[in-house]
Amino acid sequence: MLSISHTLTGAFIASKLPHPALYIPLTLASHYFEDWVPHWDVGTGLSNGKRKRKTAFLLEIVDLAISLAAIYYFWQSGQNEIQYHIWIGAFVGLVPDFLEAPRNFLKWEPWFLKPLNNFHHLFHNSTTNMVLGLTPQFITVGLIWLLK
Ligand SMILES: [Zn+2]
Repeated sequence: MLSISHTLTGAFIASKLPHPALYIPLTLASHYFEDWVPHWDVGTGLSNGKRKRKTAFLLEIVDLAISLAAIYYFWQSGQNEIQYHIWIGAFVGLVPDFLEAPRNFLKWEPWFLKPLNNFHHLFHNSTTNMVLGLTPQFITVGLIWLLK
């Protein structure tokens, strides 16, 4: 899924269950579950060459910037102290994608990441249909916005 879906889910879980022993494993599990839902994201089309790496990288920067802005707006603005659990939850929400980034963007995959990336791919269902692939993500972000 898009980074905004994964980061907001991680931040949301951390906001409701602020102990790291709870939000870290739940957020990791949420990543694999969300990737199992058929989705469209900036990496869709990379593996079959329909999307260029440079385009995916630039779209990813935009996705991350919107994610950071949304997290700040939802949980950090108006707070006097840094909400570390929120930011850690958001980061953990992206860990499986960060581990895959060297392979996707640099065509380089260290041997120790291969089993983790293969595990990640077991769950991955992407679709080139943007309406179908973005609808569950709009619902996810909308629900988080309502329930935060
Ligand atoms: Zn993923």
